[in-house]
Amino acid sequence: MFETNMQFIDLRSDTVTKPSEGMRAAMLAAPVGDDVIDIDPTVVALQDRIARLLGKEAAIFMPSGTMTNQIALRVHCSPGDEFLCESGCHIYNYEQGGFAQLSGLVAKTITGQNGLLDVEQLDGSVRPDNEHMVHTRLLCIENTHNRGAGKVYSLSRVQSLCEWAHSAGLRTHMDGARLFNASVATGVSLEAYSEPFDSISVCFSKGLGAPVGSCLVGSRDFISKARRARKLFGGGMRQVGIIAAGALFALEHQMSRLAEDHEHARLLASAIDECKSFQLADKVPDTNIVIFHVDKNRGTAIQLTESLKQDGILSLPFGPQSVRLVTHHDVSRDQIEHACKVLRGLE
Ligand SMILES: *Cc1c(COP(=O)(O)O)cnc(C)c1O
Repeated sequence: MFETNMQFIDLRSDTVTKPSEGMRAAMLAAPVGDDVIDIDPTVVALQDRIARLLGKEAAIFMPSGTMTNQIALRVHCSPGDEFLCESGCHIYNYEQGGFAQLSGLVAKTITGQNGLLDVEQLDGSVRPDNEHMVHTRLLCIENTHNRGAGKVYSLSRVQSLCEWAHSAGLRTHMDGARLFNASVATGVSLEAYSEPFDSISVCFSKGLGAPVGSCLVGSRDFISKARRARKLFGGGMRQVGIIAAGALFALEHQMSRLAEDHEHARLLASAIDECKSFQLADKVPDTNIVIFHVDKNRGTAIQLTESLKQDGILSLPFGPQSVRLVTHHDVSRDQIEHACKVLRGLE
């Protein structure tokens, strides 16, 4: 199912990137130690770096963004609590309801515009203190929004959502798996985007192009609780500097180039826009994700992805009639231009 043949232009996800030579060299040379019983110096360097970049006291490295999100929920909430989130978000749709399975939480979903919530929609969504009801504890925001075709929140929108949440007594968590894309696309610093949140999750294995890893970022007290939960969830890793070095290298060398991915996504979208049987979720993508609807008369999403594969392009069926393309580090301008030519040739 997963092709490794390099002749394919792989636009299924920004997680398909392979570590570059420079990244592999950095991983090979990384000083390491046992990060569970003691410390791993490379992990400490990564955690310090990302905490500073996001303007928070502390950070903790984990194997996946699912784990950083689920541990954030667990630390912010207690069993029987409720959190608010957007109905298309990753935490609700793509983590097996881990919040319910692992931490006894319930989610209240609110549908935004391309995944983005407005503060007006949240009025009345905190439950009264009443013995019939769960306690509402937390607001989760996804920036950029994956199912929302990589849509970015403006800083002022994030600020007003968090102001509302804090004044309602809630905590705030940002699923920033692609926060680096949001920052590069808008010019809003990582620190400014993070400032209104109590916790932030970022992924190094998406657009940044590292092979493994995510960080959860927040106050020193929050992160020490998260460290305990990480051991419980099986995320304590030993000589983990080997993979943390890939993340450090990605931060250092592969962040500013995200603008190129965004430009590539706009090129793909403009080619798709010329096809009458396709409708883009967002005509001009904000970042590196392009989602489009396929007319039933033309066939299903799976049929389209099969036919694109015949032309050497791998894409992801994202619903019965929708397809996702994601640009990333391992797709060149030439390959994007070739993909655009193929897309333009479709009817
Ligand atoms: C990829 C992703 C995650 C984390 O996924 P993992 O595969 O567990 O690392 C979380 N949120 C969003 C929006 C994502 O795209």
